[in-house]
Amino acid sequence: MEHHLAWKPYCRPFRTPLRTAYGEWAEREGLLVRLEADGAVGYGEVAPLESFGTESVLDAAEFLDALAEDPDLEVPPQFVCTRFALDCAGGALRKTPKRTLHVSGLLPAGITAYAALQTLLNQGFTTFKWKIGVEPMEVERQLCAELFKLLHGKGILRLDANAGLSYEETEEWLEFLEDYPVEYLEQPMEPGNEASMAVLAERYAVPIALDESLCGPGALLKFAEFFPKGPFVVKPSLIGSVESYQAWRSFHSGVRVIYSSAFETAIGIEAALRLAAQDEFSSEAVGFGTLEAFPHDDVLGGHPYGPTLTAGTLTSGDYEAIWNRL
Ligand SMILES: [Mg+2]
Repeated sequence: MEHHLAWKPYCRPFRTPLRTAYGEWAEREGLLVRLEADGAVGYGEVAPLESFGTESVLDAAEFLDALAEDPDLEVPPQFVCTRFALDCAGGALRKTPKRTLHVSGLLPAGITAYAALQTLLNQGFTTFKWKIGVEPMEVERQLCAELFKLLHGKGILRLDANAGLSYEETEEWLEFLEDYPVEYLEQPMEPGNEASMAVLAERYAVPIALDESLCGPGALLKFAEFFPKGPFVVKPSLIGSVESYQAWRSFHSGVRVIYSSAFETAIGIEAALRLAAQDEFSSEAVGFGTLEAFPHDDVLGGHPYGPTLTAGTLTSGDYEAIWNRL
């Protein structure tokens, strides 16, 4: 059986360093994977988020080298990004119908969110995500009230704390948000605090969504018990096996799932969109506001940033061109 595996590293600087509760992030590093097997060529992307607990780019690269030598090696279960990339390169998402998805716009942390919201509203976005847990809480709540005023009747806001809040701060935010049309508060506390977050979610009207908590083998299964309706923010690049994920999804169709990107190149974006497009139970706006985070002349991009995105548009020629440009 013919089997040829290759990978290339990439490094993409953000237009402006990203500010989240984890601090500043200046450039995105990852790997593109090309797999030629039995005459078919496929591509995948390893886009790790180590702050979420994934493998590192270096770990992935070392494993892929070993796998190129010995195609029978098993992917370690904790190498979730590598598993997803290899599944994609092996054609797991090749047959995806074209489907158009609504996109949630990404607002920068802090005061610049206000101007960004105005711009995105003008572009036709109706769902927005804002990062909190970056500035002092009092400052963020004043800003948040202003954002809601600007949004009034025109859209909905999701807040993402990136695990940066304590139990008390989470409760203060939930109390504050009860007066506003917020869609959910995303991952207020660090992974490991799911039981506490479930208690708070019971007590307040504002849903608590999990994101960081869902990284790693078995997490989706485990936390669907605490949060039987979700919402779960699923980053396809971090799910591991496509087949296992889709099996989980078909048994947990009542969980609200919001698909979200992890700052991938066009290859990873397309894979994430395809996974979202195949999910007949989710019609939530997808979190792909990340597209705007890179310079417009970046040769590894390809999807236009706008209020909708269509899965299944990247051609085999596009994949090859991106691979060759790197
Ligand atoms: Mg998040």
